[in-house]
Amino acid sequence: MTYLTCREFVELVTDYLDGALPPADRERFDEHLDMCKGCREHLDQMQTTLRALRAAGDEPARGEVEGLDRLLDTFRDWKRSRP
Ligand SMILES: [Zn+2]
Repeated sequence: MTYLTCREFVELVTDYLDGALPPADRERFDEHLDMCKGCREHLDQMQTTLRALRAAGDEPARGEVEGLDRLLDTFRDWKRSRP
């Protein structure tokens, strides 16, 4: 079993939040969460934002996508800024 990199993690986040991740990928995703504090915090942040968007939105589907895109951009920038 190979470990997920942070980059792969980011790519799977949206599927994970949609519940669309296949069981095998989900297992590796959870494993990465266990050992990577940074990704854990960012997943937390995304879930909080998603909940807020759902609670606020009269167009939840569209708002979610835009909100998630913004978050994922932030996440990628954060990853790039690391050594
Ligand atoms: Zn990570």
